[in-house]
Amino acid sequence: MEKFRVDENGFYGEFGGAYIPEILYDNVENLKNAYLKILDDELFQKEYNDLLRDYVGRPTPLYLTRRLSDKYGCKIYLKREDLNHTGAHKINNTIGQILLARRMGKTRIIAETGAGQHGVATATVCALMNMECVVYMGKTDIERQHLNVQKMEMLGATVIPVTSGNMTLKDATNEAIRDWCCNPSDTYYIIGSVVGPHPYPDMVARLQSVISEETRKQLLEKEGRETPDYVIACVGGGSNAAGMVYHFLDEPNVKIILAEAGGKGVNSGESAATIQLGKKGIIHGSKTLIMQSEDGQIEEPYSISAGLDYPGIGPMHAHLVKSGRSEVLAIDDDEAIEAAFELTALEGIIPAIESAHALGVLKKKTFKPDDVVVLCLSGRGDKDMETYVRLKEEGGF
Ligand SMILES: *Cc1c(COP(=O)(O)O)cnc(C)c1O
Repeated sequence: MEKFRVDENGFYGEFGGAYIPEILYDNVENLKNAYLKILDDELFQKEYNDLLRDYVGRPTPLYLTRRLSDKYGCKIYLKREDLNHTGAHKINNTIGQILLARRMGKTRIIAETGAGQHGVATATVCALMNMECVVYMGKTDIERQHLNVQKMEMLGATVIPVTSGNMTLKDATNEAIRDWCCNPSDTYYIIGSVVGPHPYPDMVARLQSVISEETRKQLLEKEGRETPDYVIACVGGGSNAAGMVYHFLDEPNVKIILAEAGGKGVNSGESAATIQLGKKGIIHGSKTLIMQSEDGQIEEPYSISAGLDYPGIGPMHAHLVKSGRSEVLAIDDDEAIEAAFELTALEGIIPAIESAHALGVLKKKTFKPDDVVVLCLSGRGDKDMETYVRLKEEGGF
């Protein structure tokens, strides 16, 4: 039963661990010793759950699609994380971590962001809790995601442009770690996915596990059983997927399908299919599958979705796939975009491009009529309108 959970050394099978510079050792050790106690504390639970309900808007609906289900010949439910405050699942994690930071006596929050979604979710909870907030963001991403930069600044965060490397998420993460090394005593680093050194992957998975906890209750009400036949989620670092699968891991009848970003094709040289292309290595404090060259240089991932182009993957998912518990499919840019237009036309829901990768799985599988499928709709498409409009104008959709 324990084989899919993290062990006491922070490993999922051969993946995970905490490979950190010595200066951070005390910080990470303190966090490791404190996080389970704090997360299980009754007062913490109350504050966290009250905010999830009244501030985030949880529980999110579990919506049985009609026309999408008809089209694929099974019962497809959407777990509506797109309806959360700030438009995605990321706020579940940032609310939890800022409460934890406060309990640990930290006064300053730092974060990395790629597309800006995690940055906005962090800036939001910092405004809420009156904490100083510094967000590191690659200069390339700042130019691509201007609206999210404006939101973070309006929320009171300082956005620091990162100009090293390709000036994207990996470089922003390096810079955030550097800041943490310089300010270990007063600063708390809110990581945005199930990545980084132990205990972050396990902590973030627990904070997102509310997704599958609610799903079980909602399915019992709607289907008379707590478990579906399939759960489907997209993976960048893997936090919405971790939340979606968490309470189903020990249920062998629940099949898990992960959608990673194929980009222009897994073998095109322009892809972010980290699990399929990755080799074992260490990135940002964790041993996992990484897109890297023969000599271990990290290769720049590509996806039309800014939220999925991380060159690593959470160690939990590397283990789940390697051990056969989860299946992973690569969904290419054009397949994701087609799925986004399809959901919009059939159900009146414009999904985030990340979530559209999960929707792209539906075409690649054959389902039986009484199969119950739960798909995590991780976020809404407002932030992606420019891309959708451009692709529509270019034709084909
Ligand atoms: C950030 C993001 C993702 C990818 O992150 P995970 O940690 O893999 O969940 C997916 N969907 C949306 C809407 C996002 O904002």
